[in-house]
Amino acid sequence: MSTIGSNLQGVRDRLEQACAACQRLPGSVSLLAVSKTFGPEAVRAAYAAGQRAFGENYVQEGVDKINLLRAEGLDGLEWHCIGPLQSNKTRLVAEHFDWVHTLDRLKVAQRLSEQRPAGMAPLQVCVQVNLDGGANKSGVAPQEALELARAVAALPRLRLRGLMAIPEPHADAAELLAVMQGLPALLENINAELLQGGQLAQAMDTVSMGMSNDMDTAVAAGSTMVRVGSAIFGSRPAKPTPAG
Ligand SMILES: *Cc1c(COP(=O)(O)O)cnc(C)c1O
Repeated sequence: MSTIGSNLQGVRDRLEQACAACQRLPGSVSLLAVSKTFGPEAVRAAYAAGQRAFGENYVQEGVDKINLLRAEGLDGLEWHCIGPLQSNKTRLVAEHFDWVHTLDRLKVAQRLSEQRPAGMAPLQVCVQVNLDGGANKSGVAPQEALELARAVAALPRLRLRGLMAIPEPHADAAELLAVMQGLPALLENINAELLQGGQLAQAMDTVSMGMSNDMDTAVAAGSTMVRVGSAIFGSRPAKPTPAG
């Protein structure tokens, strides 16, 4: 088996153990393999090991991989945009991706809905929430999530699937768990509000939370989709630092 294949198996085992530890059903958490910065050969290796859902942060890099692997005839791939999304990139995303996890502005949501081609399934979307007011400034404040979710749910070519967060690292696991538990709780509140008001046809079912370092805690908190990169593909080159 390839290194990526055995890493992937290791992550699946970790998820199964995390589910068992909190009496959740194995398989109640789906795995998004974050292939950003890695080439198509990494995606092929994970695909050969049974992985189908992939996450990309940089729109053009993702689109290049999507087009290449589609032309090669790799079937059943599902592509998730998990990076910050600028208005000028929405068309590329609407035309190529299956999911967007990082909606935090209505304007971007409106553009994605308008630009989603008629021949494609609705774009599956999550609203990004800045749970802890962390230095990562993306995401709406928790108290703003209901309003954005309500507006997104009304857009014809988007389907609101859930909420996403990137909590700040915590030295204290219990504190991290408490922060993380806020996301499924918020999802329940918004579901109740919007379903009761007839503004959401189907309940949101996705809590997108947890990465290589904190996926176990995220599962304990109620995540339904973890986004895992380095534990599968290896470490990424560090971001270039300004010279000087
Ligand atoms: C890079 C990234 C991940 C994966 O992070 P790892 O620590 O490599 O598992 C998950 N989610 C988002 C939004 C990311 O940008």
